[in-house]
Amino acid sequence: MQSVFEAMNAKDHEQVVVCNDPDTGLKAIIAIHDTTIGPALGGCRMWNYESEDDALTDVLRLSRGMSYKAAIASLNLGGGKAVIIGDAKKQKTEILFRSFGRFVEGLNGRYITAEDVGTTVTDMEWVRMETQYVTGISRALGGSGDPSPVTGFGAFVGLKAAVKKQMGRDSISGLKVAVQGVGHVGFHLVKHLSEEGAKVFITDIVDENIKRVVNEFGSEAVGPDDIYDLDVDIYAPCALGATLNDETIPNLKCSIVAGAANNQLKVESEHGQMLKDRGILYAPDYAVNAGGLINVANEIEGYNRERAFSQAEGIYDILLTIFKLANKENIPTHKAANMVAEKRMEDISKLKNFYLPKKNFMGKRDNNG
Ligand code: NAD
Repeated sequence: MQSVFEAMNAKDHEQVVVCNDPDTGLKAIIAIHDTTIGPALGGCRMWNYESEDDALTDVLRLSRGMSYKAAIASLNLGGGKAVIIGDAKKQKTEILFRSFGRFVEGLNGRYITAEDVGTTVTDMEWVRMETQYVTGISRALGGSGDPSPVTGFGAFVGLKAAVKKQMGRDSISGLKVAVQGVGHVGFHLVKHLSEEGAKVFITDIVDENIKRVVNEFGSEAVGPDDIYDLDVDIYAPCALGATLNDETIPNLKCSIVAGAANNQLKVESEHGQMLKDRGILYAPDYAVNAGGLINVANEIEGYNRERAFSQAEGIYDILLTIFKLANKENIPTHKAANMVAEKRMEDISKLKNFYLPKKNFMGKRDNNG
């Protein structure tokens, strides 16, 4: 077992906060990866980890990913994440989340939380009773609500950027797209694809979700394992991670992979290269799905859905920048994306700390005579 400091040093983490509150049953870890660009924003995952080591590994990995996602999306945010160790189906209580909220408040804005796997908007509303540093609150309470329409739209424009690069086309009309997973994000992606005249094939493991999309958009449903073998132009993973691997990549007939699922490459370095070698253009997942983060980030300034959609439209140019760099350096696109994100973090770290007078400085002096 490596020490916490060794694990933090391995990926340049700034801070890890271990939250322990036996009275409420809270056992959580907050990881702040990098705050060069801004406060560390990232969701709070609730998961029954087999060990504390597993929880630490996960929170360090996820928080670092958030730094890259925020940097590539041109947001003024850093990367953070939290994990609550426990069974999301059995162990959720108001006091557990309020206790977590107090720990978040104690960080005084260095970390901003949100919902993630195993947590919901309701849980975040409990967190909000204790801290202002929480996003992903319901629209009714002035929050950004369900991020998936913005994520789905961002994935759509990301996919179009890949089509532009690979095929030189502005329109996707008539192209064949295979969408894996038609849950929250997949639904919205299929909607945009269908509206623009693509022929869409879908798969899911939940019949109800398939029926909804077939009825609304007339997509053609296929079995979960058949999605990789279809003769299509684009494969859009919108369900699970690690679907690009040794077994699936050799079967793909598409020339583009562009979808919203997180961590699509099973082993980043190997499978990113494998796609490149096969001439398949991979649109890096964390750029394609940045719409979700863009949406919650908007909540910090006062939520405005129009602004969130308009920022998500920028994913098109972000992807073109990544593809251009990948071409120039002759490297896989996932590497180019990391380079673009790292460059922004590095550039912003060069900004000098000019002295800024406190906003109320003059006022205070007056009041104090
Ligand atoms: P979701 O749970 O609503 O949808 C996922 C869908 O995939 C479900 O309908 C599920 O039944 C289906 N599915 C699961 N296993 C499958 C399989 N083996 N084959 C086919 N379908 C399968 O989740 P979501 O919010 O739509 O997110 C989808 C992906 O996008 C996830 O990887 C998520 O991390 C990522 N993502 C989502 C957002 C967002 O705004 N919701 C933002 C960024 C990234």
